[in-house]
Amino acid sequence: MPGLFPPGALPRRLPMIRMHVADAGHLPGGAKGIRFECATCGHDTGWISDSWTITENRRGHPCPVCNPEAQAPKHRS
Ligand SMILES: [Zn+2]
Repeated sequence: MPGLFPPGALPRRLPMIRMHVADAGHLPGGAKGIRFECATCGHDTGWISDSWTITENRRGHPCPVCNPEAQAPKHRS
């Protein structure tokens, strides 16, 4: 049985560049804080409020500089 789609016809997600944890600790107010760094572009989030699980943080978060389309709804024309 031939394939349902010709090769290359399936939509593929673009490879996601992820930032990884550079530092983690507590913010001046005592809340959990974390800092992410992108190894690809060097983007540094600075200290931000840590609202994720340890698992999510270990996996990394999409870099807003390397993946601008991941932040906003896609508009492709
Ligand atoms: Zn990046």
